[in-house]
Amino acid sequence: MSTDRRSLFSSLLSPTPSKSDNVDLALLRRCERRLDELESMTPLSGLDLKNLLAANGVSRRAFLGWTSAATALLMLHPWFEPLVARAAEVMNRVPVIWFEGQDCAGNSEAFLHANGPTIDELLFNVISLEYHETLMAAAGFQAEERLQQATKDNHGKYLLVIEGSIPRGLNGAYATIGPNATPFIETVTELAPGAAAVIAVGNCANFGGLPAAHPNPTHAVGVSDVVKGTPIVNIGSCPINPVNFNGTLLHYTLTGQLPALDSLLRPKFAFGYRIHDNCERRAHFDAGEYVQQWGDDAARNNFCLYKMGCKGPMAFNNCSIVRYNEGTNWPVGAGHGCIACAAPNFWDRYATERPMAEANIRAPGLFGGGVESGIDKFGVGLLSVAGAGIAVHAALTATARRRDRHGKTPEPELAEET
Ligand code: SF4
Ligand code: SF4
Repeated sequence: MSTDRRSLFSSLLSPTPSKSDNVDLALLRRCERRLDELESMTPLSGLDLKNLLAANGVSRRAFLGWTSAATALLMLHPWFEPLVARAAEVMNRVPVIWFEGQDCAGNSEAFLHANGPTIDELLFNVISLEYHETLMAAAGFQAEERLQQATKDNHGKYLLVIEGSIPRGLNGAYATIGPNATPFIETVTELAPGAAAVIAVGNCANFGGLPAAHPNPTHAVGVSDVVKGTPIVNIGSCPINPVNFNGTLLHYTLTGQLPALDSLLRPKFAFGYRIHDNCERRAHFDAGEYVQQWGDDAARNNFCLYKMGCKGPMAFNNCSIVRYNEGTNWPVGAGHGCIACAAPNFWDRYATERPMAEANIRAPGLFGGGVESGIDKFGVGLLSVAGAGIAVHAALTATARRRDRHGKTPEPELAEET
């Protein structure tokens, strides 16, 4: 470790933990060895985190606070905080190649358009982006050359980040890359085998997203439909939360391994939480207090949005915990229901402003009896049962509330649907 960095993070450096600290010592030592190795390498990117933080007026105290939050996000013991700080600094040794296919660039922009960039947004500048069509200065054949060089130099080591869905229609002609108009699907399948892992960012790259919504005119799919044999991580949401992308990169930098994933290949540290269980409106749900109409008294009192179509009971994401824009707010906090943007087929299944039980009535029309009418319909059926159960729960709790508290008819704007 350099003396220079020691001076910046010296108070974070601690003696060896004792047994009673209950720290995974084997993991701690493995991370130390991994960081020593990365620190001995020449940075791929010229930007230094310490200088960048100073140039943007980020104090050491703020960085230590961020380090602590990032360690907790990754579900690591506080003893790992100094190592997380070191990992943030050496993220410029991990080569990243980033492609956009059928997308709106929303995931890239989630990092970029900030007046006062957060530490997570600043970290995006530090990582070694060897190729990113939207951000790199090179274009055309020059960019192509850069890509060839980067994949050759970093074979087996680069992280291939895919943003946007992959269209299979018209032999892949709906999305092409580079001066030779190479179909995106070819680019992805050719580069994935040389990558250490493929990181699919945003719902389009995970599951097809909006382009794959019915009737899916371009035959769009997600990365896991075309990449086989290379580890894949799906960082969900529309767009992703920079915190979860950086968390994944930090985990990889720190341990040399991908974080634990759920059955949809999403990092558990980010997608192991049900929105509904961590929602600040949950007490209103339990009390049967719902917004019935946009702008009604219940909306002004921040009541539960379930009846306005909130799919928080079916959605898994950490946005109700870490929020967006450095914890400022999140969609439900701002007054709109969750549309389960990290779930497969969310545009068709969840993006309606009706409760799930009612959304199911529309499902046959939406799905049209095509390929989706098998497994997907079954899935929606299951969720509808969950939705119906929630509606019963809500009606019962509301009835109990009415009996217990008032013993009289509720006010019209809070009346339950039957
Ligand atoms: S239904 Fe939505 S608004 Fe209501 S408590 Fe659950 S997540 Fe929050
Ligand atoms: S509240 Fe729901 S729709 Fe909104 S960002 Fe979170 S998971 Fe996505």
